Amino acid sequence: MPDTKFNLIAGSWTAGVSEIENRNPSDITDLIGLFTQASADQLEATLDRARIAQADWAGYGLERKQAVLMAIGAELMSRAEELGTLLSREEGKPLAEGRGEVYRAGQFFTYYAAETLRQLGENADSVRAGVEIDVRREPVGTVAVISPWNFPTATASWKIAPALAYGNAVVWKPANLTPASAVALAEIIDRQDIPKGLFSLVMGSGADIGQRLVESPRIDAISFTGSVPVGKGIAAAAIQNLTRVQMEMGSKNALAVMDDADLDLAVTLALGGAFGGTGQKCTASSRLVVHDRVHDAFAEKLVAGAQAMKVGHALEDGTQIGPVVSDRQLSENLDYVRLGKTEGAELACGGARLAMPHDGHYMSPGVFLNTRNDMTINREEMFAPLTSVIKVGSYDEALATVNDTRFGLTSGIVTRSLARATHFRRNARTGVVTVNLPTAGTDYHVPFGGRGDSSYGPREQGRAAAEFYTTVKTAYISAGNPA
Ligand code: NDP
Repeated sequence: MPDTKFNLIAGSWTAGVSEIENRNPSDITDLIGLFTQASADQLEATLDRARIAQADWAGYGLERKQAVLMAIGAELMSRAEELGTLLSREEGKPLAEGRGEVYRAGQFFTYYAAETLRQLGENADSVRAGVEIDVRREPVGTVAVISPWNFPTATASWKIAPALAYGNAVVWKPANLTPASAVALAEIIDRQDIPKGLFSLVMGSGADIGQRLVESPRIDAISFTGSVPVGKGIAAAAIQNLTRVQMEMGSKNALAVMDDADLDLAVTLALGGAFGGTGQKCTASSRLVVHDRVHDAFAEKLVAGAQAMKVGHALEDGTQIGPVVSDRQLSENLDYVRLGKTEGAELACGGARLAMPHDGHYMSPGVFLNTRNDMTINREEMFAPLTSVIKVGSYDEALATVNDTRFGLTSGIVTRSLARATHFRRNARTGVVTVNLPTAGTDYHVPFGGRGDSSYGPREQGRAAAEFYTTVKTAYISAGNPA
């Protein structure tokens, strides 16, 4: 049996009250490791220590903080192959995606390393004579980071990096499905020149340790990525303590394909957007809104493309789609396939459990044709390698369909018309909009977030993150008479 990996509690690697097994979704006979689960007392202890450590950290010089973030980023980037392999092994995304995710996580740290030196305030004259005003940002205190399994390293990093850069302590509760990537990142952070207990790892179940964390009055801010129901519960808990909260949740992103589109480009974007990461992305293209003049040609190429995609073990050469993350998620996906058929959608290909040489959670990529936007499969986030084609008669109908959802994270249009691209960019009700690009795949130096049920609170990433991880102080100074 492998050794159990511990939590980082009050600056020390500590065994918890129980442990969980982590198995490879590409091959469930592969036991990746055992991971401890934190107790309520350990959570309290680490919160005690975090408050003391945060005060120390806030007093570090800017270059000292910058060096810490830079070192974390550089190590993640230089170990992208090794840590990407671990990530792909436990999450199931193909190795190229796992490696790319770890490298990107490193870039979040190097970006925010630079931001530590760019924390500029504002100054102004008061309306009162002889009085000056200084406006600057200060850390909020202790930040709870709750992250999902689908981007276990990147999502955590785009929260942890700005939290540390702006002078906060961090208590991180990662998803229990991907603890190995969490321990790897925590080990890197723990080795740096930081006060003992500034950064905590509290692995444990969401319902237990996650819930205790978000209910704690000693947390000053909560950054969460995950599902809408859990997000709503966290918001309800946070408001009891007036804790600030930032949440990125699900979506139902649409890619509009116009009659003037480059069809091969449209198909490539749709396949990558729908099936990248096995469809388990909050930015996945799960609705393909297609103009009727190109519908049949697009559908034919799309189905052929989906059927040609290679499903396989995440670490095998040539794999384009890895397994679904868990057996539970696979069962839910298959329920959606049944529901789609019951609703009258035509399953043109895929959508089935696959028997493979390895015992994993494999599913073929599925395309639904002849769907309506009011079907449940087009209303709810499925988080599956499934996508639906919705036929529309005009650009106006396409835009209305894209916007007819309670979510609003990303949307895209494929068109050669500048007029349509511009109108779409300005009228799509999503936080991110793309033109002739996939709905998935964003940069780290600009804001990320959505509207409606997709997001709540300030934007993440880029300089926008300062809004959440800092609080503004306005100082009035009367210098008096120098004479
Ligand atoms: P959850 O929302 O359940 O989990 C996200 C994170 O929140 C995990 O770390 C989880 O811990 C934690 N958590 C769960 N319950 C609580 C709680 N009461 N208090 C505090 N933290 C909690 O998502 P799942 O991983 O179960 O995925 C379910 C669905 O969520 C997916 O099918 C998908 O639709 C959506 N999802 C969306 C994501 C996105 O990027 N928008 C990312 C992941 C999921 P634990 O792992 O222990 O449960």
